[in-house]
Amino acid sequence: MCSLFGIVAPDLPVADLTYLALYALQHRGQEGAGISVSNHGQIQTYKQLGLVPQVFTETVLRQQLIGQMAIGHTRYSTTGSGHVVENLQPLEFSLDGMPFTVAHNGNLVNQFELHSELTERGYRFKTSSDTEIVGALIAQFSGLSFEEAIFAATRKIKGAYSLVFLTPDRVLGMRDPYGIRPLLLGKMGNHYMLASESPAFDIVGGKLIRDIEPGELVSITDVGVETKMYEAQTKRRMCVFEYIYLARPDGDLYGRNVYKARRRMGEQLALEHPVKADVVIGVPDSGTPAALGYAKASGIEYEEGLIKNRYVGRTFINPDPMVRDLGVKIKLHPIREVIEGKRVVVVDDSIVRGTTSRKIVSLLKQTGAAEVHMRVSSPPIVSPCFYGIDTASYDELIGARKTPAEIARYLGADSLGYLSIEGMVKAIRLSDDQFCMACLNGKYPIEVPASMKREKNLLTEPAPPAVA
Ligand code: SF4
Repeated sequence: MCSLFGIVAPDLPVADLTYLALYALQHRGQEGAGISVSNHGQIQTYKQLGLVPQVFTETVLRQQLIGQMAIGHTRYSTTGSGHVVENLQPLEFSLDGMPFTVAHNGNLVNQFELHSELTERGYRFKTSSDTEIVGALIAQFSGLSFEEAIFAATRKIKGAYSLVFLTPDRVLGMRDPYGIRPLLLGKMGNHYMLASESPAFDIVGGKLIRDIEPGELVSITDVGVETKMYEAQTKRRMCVFEYIYLARPDGDLYGRNVYKARRRMGEQLALEHPVKADVVIGVPDSGTPAALGYAKASGIEYEEGLIKNRYVGRTFINPDPMVRDLGVKIKLHPIREVIEGKRVVVVDDSIVRGTTSRKIVSLLKQTGAAEVHMRVSSPPIVSPCFYGIDTASYDELIGARKTPAEIARYLGADSLGYLSIEGMVKAIRLSDDQFCMACLNGKYPIEVPASMKREKNLLTEPAPPAVA
C-alpha cells in the first residue's frame, strides 16, 4: 500500500503538518515512515521503522525538519523487505548536483529488467525497493531539466505508481497513465498539498480540490500549481479495492464518498443474497459500513457482535496451532449476548486465504450462534495483485481454487454469498471501465511479465555491496 503526502507552505510548520497527515494515512503502511523537508534549498530527510508517532519526536520535527516544503511517506512493503531502514522512503538522489527525494505508492511490473539494466550500467543499488529504480533512472538523465528527466524515466517504467518528489524549490506529484493508486490535490488557504487520501487534507485544516488524473504531473511552488499531462494515452483504472477495503471511509475518491459506497455495497449484497436471520453483524472495521447497509436493505437488526482490539499490531504468528487459533480472539472478541441462540449474518469486506473467515465462523459458533451466514461485500478474489497490494499468490487465494459452495463448507458457514462484480460497480456509482478489477476478473490493465507472475517480489534482498 503506502501513503504519500506533500505540501508547500513557507509560512507554516510543514514538518508538523506532514506528521499529522501521515498520522491520518497510517492505515496504508505501518512498517516505517519518513519526511523530507527543503529548507531554503537544503534537503533533510528523517525516516525510521515504526508507527508515525514512534518515528517522529518533537525534537526531530522542530529541530531537524525545519523547512518551507515537505513530502512524507508511510511504508507497507510489496517489493523489498519491510524491516530494513534502507528501504524506507523518501529516498535521496541528485540530478546534475541538484538533490531530490522521491516517495512511491505502487509496484513496478518491469522492475527486474530495469534493475538488471541499471546494474549493468554500473549503478549500485542501496535498497531492495523498486522506488530506487525510479530515482536512479531520473538521476541518470543528466542535462535534462527535472521535469524532462521524470518524463524520460516514465517512458521506461511500467506498472502502478503514484509518486511525490521534493526538490530544493518545489513538490511534484504524478500518477501512472492508468491511475491505479490514488493521489489527490488539496488546498489550505493559499497553500497546495498532495495526498493519497483526502482525510490527510482534513486533518491539517485543508480541503480536497480534485483527484490527480492518470498520466498527470503537478508541480507545486510557493506561487501556485502547474499541471502537465506527460502521457497522451491514459485510462482511468483505479484499484477498486480502495473502495472495498483500503481507503479510509471518511474520504472521497473520484467524487464518491468511500463510506457511502461501502454501505451501498452492503445494501446490494442483501438484495443479491437474502437470508432469514435474527441479527446482522460486521467484521470491524472495514466490514461495518457494508453490514449497516445489509441490515438496512434486509430489515434485519444490526448489532455490534464483534469487538476489535485496537492495540493488536501484526498478525499473531505462532507455530503451535492451539496458540495460533487464539490469535483471532486477541483481535476480535464476540459479544455473547448478541450472538447466542441467534441466526447471525456476518458481513466482511473480502476473503483472501479464508483462514481468518474460518476462525470468525468458528468463534461465532463457539459463542452459541444457531446459524452463521457469511456475506462478503466484494466478489471472490481469483487472481493476485501485481500493482502494490499484497493479496497473496494464486495458490493461496481460496477464491481461485474453490467454488463459493466449497468455500462455505471450508469456512463451516451455513451459507455464503459474495457481491457480484456488477453489483459492486453499481454500488460505487462509477462505470466499470473506471477500475482495475484484475484480482476479481483476471483482466490486468497493465501487462504483467511472466517472471513477475511466477515470483511477485523479485527484489527481495538488498543488493550486495560494491566490490572495490
Ligand atoms: S489487482 Fe486488485 S488489488 Fe491490485 S490494483 Fe487491481 S483491483 Fe486493486
